[in-house]
Amino acid sequence: MLREEGDIVDEKPVMLIVDNVEINRTALGRFFEDDYTILAAGSGQEALSVLSSGTVNVILLALEMPGMDGFEFLSLMQRTGKSSEVPVVATLEHIDHESEAKAMEMGAADFITKPYHPTVVRSRVRNVLGRHENEWRKLLQMAQDQEIVEMKRYMDTDTLTGLYNRESFYRKAAEVMKSNNGTLYDIVYLDISCFKVINSLFHMETGDVILKAAGFYLSAAVGESGVCARLEADHFAVCIPDSRLHIEEFLQGLDANIKSLGINHNVRFFAGIYPVQDPFLPVDRMCDWAHMALNKIKGSYVKRYAYYDDSMWEVMLREQTLVRDMEIGLHEKQFRIYMQAVYNMEQKKIVGAEALVRWIHPVIGTILPSYFIPLFERNGFIMRVDRYVWEGVCQLLKEQKDKLGKVIPISVNVSRLNFYNLDLLQFLLDLVEKYELEPWMLKLEITETAYMDEPEKIISVIKEFRTQGFVILMDDFGSGHSSLSMLKNLPVDVLKLDMSFAHEVSHSRRVNAILKFIMSLSRELDMQVIVEGVETKKQLDIVSELGCQDIQGYYFSRPLPADEFMKLLEEQEQEEQRAMENEEPQEKKPRRKRMK
Ligand code: C2E
Ligand code: CA
Ligand code: CA
Repeated sequence: MLREEGDIVDEKPVMLIVDNVEINRTALGRFFEDDYTILAAGSGQEALSVLSSGTVNVILLALEMPGMDGFEFLSLMQRTGKSSEVPVVATLEHIDHESEAKAMEMGAADFITKPYHPTVVRSRVRNVLGRHENEWRKLLQMAQDQEIVEMKRYMDTDTLTGLYNRESFYRKAAEVMKSNNGTLYDIVYLDISCFKVINSLFHMETGDVILKAAGFYLSAAVGESGVCARLEADHFAVCIPDSRLHIEEFLQGLDANIKSLGINHNVRFFAGIYPVQDPFLPVDRMCDWAHMALNKIKGSYVKRYAYYDDSMWEVMLREQTLVRDMEIGLHEKQFRIYMQAVYNMEQKKIVGAEALVRWIHPVIGTILPSYFIPLFERNGFIMRVDRYVWEGVCQLLKEQKDKLGKVIPISVNVSRLNFYNLDLLQFLLDLVEKYELEPWMLKLEITETAYMDEPEKIISVIKEFRTQGFVILMDDFGSGHSSLSMLKNLPVDVLKLDMSFAHEVSHSRRVNAILKFIMSLSRELDMQVIVEGVETKKQLDIVSELGCQDIQGYYFSRPLPADEFMKLLEEQEQEEQRAMENEEPQEKKPRRKRMK
């Protein structure tokens, strides 16, 4: 009796009786008809098709049958995974332990043998079903538990690295620190320099590989004693007992780990450390403080890590004000261009100038670049300021050209972030064209450290600039990062010596000797040298004696507002004109101008 589609299905459990002898089927069916919906099959084959066509809750299965017998049926159920879903009670004509054992092995849940006693048969089937239901419930519970664990794991971890995510880090780190109240902990905030650049230079996968390797290293380094997490993008945080943190080794290990990936880029991690004093403070605040410490040194070439101290709080508040006001400042032209002249000792006149930006803030007053440039280099705003300055300088060059009929070149600072903009060269070429200038008039100062970032890339970009006629100055040369030997390979026209040379030359014989060497090397390489930071007559005398002709420093002029500098050039021009008209060669005195 097969249930047909469309039949009304009552709530009773379904029993399938499989027996080739009809009388057996009917006899058994009678025992159960009050409590079960009875289905019947005369062979193993038929039973299979019943099973596949609808729900069956329990099977009474005759082991001895022609064709597909009970054993074969059991084995099929096992293979198709049905045995765990539907319990089978085997029926036997008489007691046969061998068959019982075999059927048991094949997944039968119980046996009944003839003669069938109604109460015994019913209770056996009921027990089997009860047991099965319990097991099923247990399995279901286990699956649900597992799912909850998985779900929790998914919600707690960062899928890429397998580390904790931000929220769970805050929770776990707090738990760890509170439960080991006697132990001193540090919160370390880690960040990769210019990670965005890595993502844009290589495929996203390369970035992912780096992050995974970093995650792997961090969790191994921290072990069971602390907690580590990827907070977002390339920002990681670690909570570690102070006694276990040897920060230099820690960073070296991290570097080595990343280096072993063989990626052709200098990946550098920076760390800010907050030594936890009160483990009951919120961990997100601790992370902010560690992050603050990190921001102080991020992008630096000398320092890889910094510890938080209370003064950072004030710095951060000040920086927040600057970040809040920077857009409007640029929009309202609060950034002003000052010019600092470069004097040539031989010609005794101004031969160039450097454009230096100042922020005339409506509330704070004049802010010097050392306060905002490092901040803008971190948040990328420097590129907007630089372009603004370059355009302003081009306007001034055009003014010179129109008023004086000639141009004294002005150099601008090109922050190294600009080199990641593919349109940099085109932007400058368009600018020069817009103001009817020539590339040599707008000189480009690139700091020595920019060359260290990715020497090959920067060098090839700079070569293109020179091919287009731009003049390249290496700023802050000798501030400690480049070696003299690499100078030969760098596409540079002018060396701007770091201020420390002028400041120390009068009292350090070593500096004196180095300067002498640089001067002879520059002659050999046909490079011009500008000495920055000359403040006194004594310094001027020494550097000029060593052969330095081009001087930029307070001794001759402080940086001046652009209009004052223009007046200076006009005066110089008029004086030259007068001298030419008189045709009397006169002894010219270097002009000195100081900012009030
Ligand atoms: P820098 O490019 O090395 O510029 C020279 C700095 O030395 C200027 O500081 C200048 O005022 C100062 N200086 C000149 N002569 C003397 C001297 O005789 N003695 C002393 N003690 N200092 C002297 P400033 O204007 O404060 O600029 C600081 C730095 O900020 C610059 O160093 C440059 O790296 C950066 N900067 C300035 N303007 C810009 C800009 O428009 N863009 C970018 N990216 N950086 C800029
Ligand atoms: Ca400069
Ligand atoms: Ca400089």
